[in-house]
Amino acid sequence: VGIKEAELQLMKKAFDEIELGASMRAKNQEIFGEDLTASELVHHIVRDVRSGGDQALLRYTKLLDGLDLSSTDIMVSESELQAAADQADAAVLASLERAAKNIFAFHEEQKPKSWMTYRAHGSILGQEVIPLSRVGIYVPGGTAAYPSSVLMNAIPAIVAGVDDIIMSVPTKGGVLNPYVLAAAHMLGIKKIFRVGGAQAIAAMAYGTESIPRVDKITGPGNLFVTLAKKEVYGYVDIDMLAGPSEILILADEEASPKYIAADMLSQAEHDPLASSILITDSADLASNVRCEIQDQLQSLPRMETASASLERNGRIIVTENIQQSVHLANYSGPEHIELLVKDAFHLLPEIRCAGAVFVGSYSPEPLGDYFAGPNHVLPTGGTARFYSVLNVETFMKRTSIISYTRKALDEVSDDIIRLAETEGLEAHARAIRTRRDNIC
Ligand code: NAD
Repeated sequence: VGIKEAELQLMKKAFDEIELGASMRAKNQEIFGEDLTASELVHHIVRDVRSGGDQALLRYTKLLDGLDLSSTDIMVSESELQAAADQADAAVLASLERAAKNIFAFHEEQKPKSWMTYRAHGSILGQEVIPLSRVGIYVPGGTAAYPSSVLMNAIPAIVAGVDDIIMSVPTKGGVLNPYVLAAAHMLGIKKIFRVGGAQAIAAMAYGTESIPRVDKITGPGNLFVTLAKKEVYGYVDIDMLAGPSEILILADEEASPKYIAADMLSQAEHDPLASSILITDSADLASNVRCEIQDQLQSLPRMETASASLERNGRIIVTENIQQSVHLANYSGPEHIELLVKDAFHLLPEIRCAGAVFVGSYSPEPLGDYFAGPNHVLPTGGTARFYSVLNVETFMKRTSIISYTRKALDEVSDDIIRLAETEGLEAHARAIRTRRDNIC
């Protein structure tokens, strides 16, 4: 296709423009009695939980997740946590521990420092970096369980020094994934709530009888979770709008079709709304990847989800040259980019818009999902234009410190008075003048 047509194909819909599939609409029609868009639906849920607290939270958990809870069992008990850790496979726990070690090491490097500087006449200016007091991490769990997301959300918060980390995770069929709990137990997270979706986001944002209100909500999730985060933003902070996963592979004729197909499927199996895109200047590679995907798909346990995702958001785009490929990759601004080209590092500075870049054939995206250390909570939907990957600063805020001596203030008084008077703010000018003129 031409470059303009390719741009159109890569153009992302805003989260609130994404349309629900027929089966979801039918389910929602059954529950809500009307054909609502995803945004309208989420708006209802958030409003109801805000005003109805636990009662609304429990009602939606029953309607949407089929889980009949009472207020007393929303929170996972200490003994359930311990039991999960005890029943977890030791080899899996050891892998989680090694992953956690890498994630801690990477995030320790990010920790920002507070600072103070001395200026003229003994004045001091500085900046304090302070951890948030309480954060809520959302661990998705509608169609798959993500112990890795527990590590990726909680470790930067721990490194930042957050006092109180609470966690919310949906429990499909009422069964909690032991590895999600084991990962939380390993990191010392004690307040875990077995609720998910928009109702869990609303509960953490506004607080209910059982769930305390938090300062910030982080973590990925499906469309409903993402729209709910958008809805509560401003009342609490959020990390970003991280929706269905995306991979974009930028490859040339030397790349392996087997690797590319495997990596595209690794995204497609997440979610029917996930997207997997190959951009290449080699028509031969494009057709080989197409065949490989068909082959590999047949034996995939999550074939149904992967096929739905590829049908909806799978693309193979053949360009005239690598510059066009780079242009389209930046235009798309995906969550993950893999560079499977000769001299990949040469191309790296040209990639301006991506959550994370995986360079070379031996850096497949699951390496970053689980283990290398950088965070896997990444901007999606083209928002890599302005959002960064989840990091330690996500859990901190900055406060300025200003301390002037009398001499330092005297020296700048006239400027401040003039600026205050220009803005018509006489009281501001007087606050300075009383000091300059020494009126006590
Ligand atoms: P989820 O926890 O995000 O969503 C499950 C919840 O959705 C349920 O609890 C339910 O309340 C709600 N829900 C389901 N159907 C609904 C409907 N019809 N109406 C209203 N609410 C409904 O779990 P998921 O669905 O498995 O999605 C996880 C998402 O997270 C996937 O898109 C995956 O790609 C993404 N993910 C991203 C990252 C990342 O780092 N970016 C990591 C892991 C997962």
